[in-house]
Amino acid sequence: MSSTESFPEIRESVRRLCADFPGTYWQAKDRDRAYPTEFVETLTREGFLSVLIPEDYSGSGLGLGAATAILEEVHRSGCNGGACHAQMYVMGTLLKHGSDAQKAQYLPAVASGDLRLQAFGVTEPTSGTDTTRIRTFARKDGDDYIVSGQKIWISRAEHSDLMVLLVRTTPREECLKSSDGMSVLLVDMREAIGKGLTIRPIRTMLNHATTELFFDDLRVPAANLIGEEGKGFRYILSGMNAERILIASECIGDGRFFIDRAVAYAKDREVFGRPIGQNQGIQFPIARAQVQLSAAALMVDKAAAMFDAGENCGTEANMAKMLASEASWYAGDQCLQTHGGFGFAEEYDIERKFRETRLYQTAPISTNLILSHVATHALGLPKSF
Ligand SMILES: Cc1cc2nc3c(=O)[nH]c(=O)nc-3n(C[C@H](O)[C@H](O)[C@H](O)COP(=O)(O)OP(=O)(O)OC[C@H]3O[C@@H](n4cnc5c(N)ncnc54)[C@H](O)[C@@H]3O)c2cc1C
Repeated sequence: MSSTESFPEIRESVRRLCADFPGTYWQAKDRDRAYPTEFVETLTREGFLSVLIPEDYSGSGLGLGAATAILEEVHRSGCNGGACHAQMYVMGTLLKHGSDAQKAQYLPAVASGDLRLQAFGVTEPTSGTDTTRIRTFARKDGDDYIVSGQKIWISRAEHSDLMVLLVRTTPREECLKSSDGMSVLLVDMREAIGKGLTIRPIRTMLNHATTELFFDDLRVPAANLIGEEGKGFRYILSGMNAERILIASECIGDGRFFIDRAVAYAKDREVFGRPIGQNQGIQFPIARAQVQLSAAALMVDKAAAMFDAGENCGTEANMAKMLASEASWYAGDQCLQTHGGFGFAEEYDIERKFRETRLYQTAPISTNLILSHVATHALGLPKSF
């Protein structure tokens, strides 16, 4: 089944909702680098951000396939799920590895939108993609951990109540394996800001509400440790597969947006006395974008189905994200080219989407690191690092 045919009712509802948030809404937010609060509140109220939360915790209990349909339609409509997509998958770490008490305390409130769980704190300025070298350290002190360190590119931190934070609890040198000795803490940002946590926004080429975080002896109750101390790296890995698949579905949505717009413009715009879309020099790049995007969408569907079946989908999640991000970027480039000068005008939304979709070749994981994963994990080639 093609991804456009899955979950038709959900897709239709998302499209209707998105129609209330036209290009002019996103252009204004983009200009001011403002958070799309109204859009996020509407998606939350309609239950779209809690589809992955089980019914026992007041969510819809649907699988990742449904979540990909939602985000794809958000992006195909010209909107941007980057403002809130983490609310869908960050809770997975809590759901899979949290205690019953933690799940009962937080998940129903996340499902209702009373608590925003939008922030996922992994990346640090010095370690980059080499996550085992993170330096943010949590030292046990009575019933608390005391956290010191720094994170970078932590998106939506200013618009979240809770953050899933990866820290070291044992120095790397003292661990048998470099991926040991890391732990996951659930940080209540409402209590932390000003008491050891400072958030500094970073202005970027797209409107993404990303920030830098500084931890200066922040006290976090030990009761907020998720799972066992020292096993945090494993806990966040499965969440990262969900993240990659969901972001791949956003790229598929972006790609479809670009192709829809390019086709409509190519049919309508007449130069030299005929529609530009009659020229194969215009047709073929759009057709190639369609071919690439269709193939990428199949890989997204496959990865989501494997995730939902509880299978190990690390390689497929990575491949889906790489193919989808490259397909959307190519589609964006061709859409811009098809529009000639008008593609650069803010009011057409193409230059904004072009900037937005470029992010996904770098975050949440860059293309080289995906190739490295496939080379070493799927093909058994020797590790280079
Ligand atoms: C807008 C934005 C939002 C983000 N949101 C979040 C968030 O919410 N939470 C979070 O934790 N992080 C977030 N990130 C961080 C993001 O996941 C990282 O930027 C990304 O994983 C790349 O890491 P880096 O920037 O440290 O690049 P580096 O690791 O410094 O890599 C730089 C370049 O070198 C390449 N490279 C590095 N090592 C190798 C190698 N061995 N072989 C070949 N190539 C290599 C990389 O592929 C990359 O192209 C965000 C980033 C951005 C820009």
